[in-house]
Amino acid sequence: MQFKARIAHALVGALFTGTLLLSTPTHASELSLVETQQAQALGLAVPYSAKVPTIESVLGYPAASRISSPAAIEAYFVKLAEQFPAQVKLHYYGKSWEGRNLYYVAISSAENIAAYASYQQGMQQLSAADKTSREQANKLIAELPASIWLSYGVHGNEISSPEAAMLTAYHLLAAEDEQTASWLNNTVVFIDPVQNPDGRSRFVSRYYMTAGLEHSADRHSAEHNEPWPSGRSNHYLFDLNRDWIALTQPEISGQVTALLENMPLVFVDLHEMGGDSSYYFTPEADPYNPLITKKQRETLWYIGENNAQWFDERGYDYFTREIFDAFYPGYGASWPLYHGSISMTYEMASARGHVFRTKNGDILTYGDGVQRHFVASVATIEAVAQQRQQLLKNFWDYRNQGIEAGSDSKQRVYLFAGQQDPAATQRLAGLLTRHGVHVQQAKEAFSACGVKYPAGSFWVDTAQPAHYMARTLLDKNIAMDDKFIAEQERLRANNLPDQIYDVTAWSLPLMFNLDYQTCSRAPRVESQLATEQLVKPGTVLNADAEVGFIVPWGDMNAGRFLTEALREGLTVKRSDLAFTHKNKQRYPAGSLILTHAQNPNLKAAVQKLAVSSGATVHGVDSSWVTDGPNFGSNNVKLVHAPNIVMLWDEPVSSLNAGHSRYVIEQQFGYPVTAMRAAQLSRADLSHYQVLILPSTYGSLSAALGENGEANVTKWIENGGVLITFGNATEWAVQSDLLNSALERVINESPQGHGSEKKVDGLLIQSKAEHMHYITPDAADPYWTAGVLTNLDVDLEHWLSAGVQPNLISVTVGNQIYRPLSIEHGRNIVSYSKNVLASGYLWEENQQQLAYKPFLMWQPRKRGMVISFTQEPTYRAYLDGLNVLLLNAIFGGAAHATPLR
Ligand SMILES: [Zn+2]
Repeated sequence: MQFKARIAHALVGALFTGTLLLSTPTHASELSLVETQQAQALGLAVPYSAKVPTIESVLGYPAASRISSPAAIEAYFVKLAEQFPAQVKLHYYGKSWEGRNLYYVAISSAENIAAYASYQQGMQQLSAADKTSREQANKLIAELPASIWLSYGVHGNEISSPEAAMLTAYHLLAAEDEQTASWLNNTVVFIDPVQNPDGRSRFVSRYYMTAGLEHSADRHSAEHNEPWPSGRSNHYLFDLNRDWIALTQPEISGQVTALLENMPLVFVDLHEMGGDSSYYFTPEADPYNPLITKKQRETLWYIGENNAQWFDERGYDYFTREIFDAFYPGYGASWPLYHGSISMTYEMASARGHVFRTKNGDILTYGDGVQRHFVASVATIEAVAQQRQQLLKNFWDYRNQGIEAGSDSKQRVYLFAGQQDPAATQRLAGLLTRHGVHVQQAKEAFSACGVKYPAGSFWVDTAQPAHYMARTLLDKNIAMDDKFIAEQERLRANNLPDQIYDVTAWSLPLMFNLDYQTCSRAPRVESQLATEQLVKPGTVLNADAEVGFIVPWGDMNAGRFLTEALREGLTVKRSDLAFTHKNKQRYPAGSLILTHAQNPNLKAAVQKLAVSSGATVHGVDSSWVTDGPNFGSNNVKLVHAPNIVMLWDEPVSSLNAGHSRYVIEQQFGYPVTAMRAAQLSRADLSHYQVLILPSTYGSLSAALGENGEANVTKWIENGGVLITFGNATEWAVQSDLLNSALERVINESPQGHGSEKKVDGLLIQSKAEHMHYITPDAADPYWTAGVLTNLDVDLEHWLSAGVQPNLISVTVGNQIYRPLSIEHGRNIVSYSKNVLASGYLWEENQQQLAYKPFLMWQPRKRGMVISFTQEPTYRAYLDGLNVLLLNAIFGGAAHATPLR
């Protein structure tokens, strides 16, 4: 921090925590004085109305003197909405997993709030550029207010912005100057004060637990080092700022619905970063997603420059453009761009508590963060108010331009027949609809570009106002700027870290492993708009069947049917091999068999499960099979309801543990017991049939120790199924449970950098030779931030039952494993020869990954080890790998042979 900032801090400190803390103002005039002083400290010397409740009057402590809980913040906004219904609209959009309210407020002039319904309607008309004429649009542009959506605290341990949300709201309602009034006449300000209440609540309660007589500024103190999992994530430990593609979490899916209802023109996501930084705002770093237009970039620049003016006046340091790029569309600060809005990240240095000593020796306070986020919020509101007409016009132009771009495209239409995986196809159609993309469902069969599609097929015409959103979610590949890539290769060649910040590929049809075609013309077929429905209720064919029911395996509908049936206590069998029933129907490997003989009251149970799971269930009047195993064959296994235990807490990656638990519990519908390493090392595990080890950040060997290794090994030998994800596979290798090996980078002529302290003289004759000599002998392969990769499946195994021959995975990091030799086990899924499906991956990694294992299976006495070399639950959006994971868990438990 600079000198001026330190002065500002001293002032805030005095006002926030000095005499004001001791005073308990009761009269309106005193309240006014308090807030005026606070506001002056915040740098806005404007008169404030005494009628607006201050933070202190509602919460009992002055603004920024305490890290407010989500409940306290909600109480403040409820109070504002109750007291100022003419200017504040409070809207609830959902509940977090732990039951906390998710909400936003809209604040504007009384006139704008009175006309709120017509504002929403007007924005919907302006959005619908396919239905609204230019004249109507011009009228709307002339009349509608501008709008800005300020989202605070998506990462629960980034603490200052939700406090700034309260001050921003207070300022807008209480400030009596003309400037603020004119902003509100021109702008509807949406405030989402706490996007992640569960994470914030976790942070706040644990922070105050560790506080002593005085707050510690020491970065090594317990106050400044959260236990696992940090407050950053939500209940299922997701980074919510990566959930804007899959919309799996209520905090984000609810917010997306609210955004689509209001279509704000500008969106700001206010974060915190490391405490030794200053403040970051727009413009973003390279690379930009190519679907972001020049106009949008100009507006980002304009807003950044306006912020800079406010920061200059107060002597606040800031930086722009160096980090936080705008390529991946799954951030809060990216998603609105593809609907034609402007969106940005702001980042403040975090005190991560009340006080923090920076590397420069300055004391950074919580109040400093609150202050800067407040100033940045207000500055941005000003920029939006000033640009009202221009922003409305740009928004309309963007959506119009989308229709034109779609019409001109050779890949105008995406078509999904959906026969290969009906569950994932339905989910994609519902998900795209939730993103505000129009998806059509054909009422009858049709042909397009020479391909026949059955009735019920989905298609997306990208000649629509949400063209860019459709494309960024559906396109197989979004190209990175050539210049940026060339720069990354240059950095790498010079042994410097690359600047790729996040995954470079995210195509939904690829991640869902869906077959689709594109066509340059829209089909002529009567269709209806798809709904937001993610699971379509299934049906039972031949419901009065005499012998029982078969559920064809191969998608999530059947997967949900299996888990629900097991939880209901039904007896379910599963065929390892495909078979043809007397009814002439061919059933894929993995298909489920339920008979009346083994299940009383089966008819009613199956009916209920078909509806809730989405599965199509086939009733059979005979058990006669004409090809493949009969129901009583040894190739048809009883599926037990396994007890699943997952390693939890240090040293596990909270992200992978959270994603995995979420996928199994919320998408598969099956409970998981979370267990810490200390218990796992010594507990009697015989109660469990499946143990999942997620990826880790620290050392599993150190956490589990020799006892843990021995306990797990004995448990496997007695019939346990160990499933490892990502780098937990390395532990299985080190523990001799998996006879694979981790590969180093390919190094054709190692230079013998040994440990000798005196070596022979050497002539280095070229730069190339020099590079050769500084390359380590035993380096790991080069790290990748994440790409989509092609996989080939060995279909001759129950682990791949019902799975497509080719799959897609995310590949992150630099772990490459050796295939298992056949005496040890099988390589069920391997990287394809042509590794890269989408994104940017270093050439040598592509070569080295080819044919290497993605999923290995190694039996051991009565149990087995199933190892994924990457995370199949990554961000919970690799739906195309779900059947494989279901096979590993439930097929694995069915194939292990514990003594019962
Ligand atoms: Zn953040």
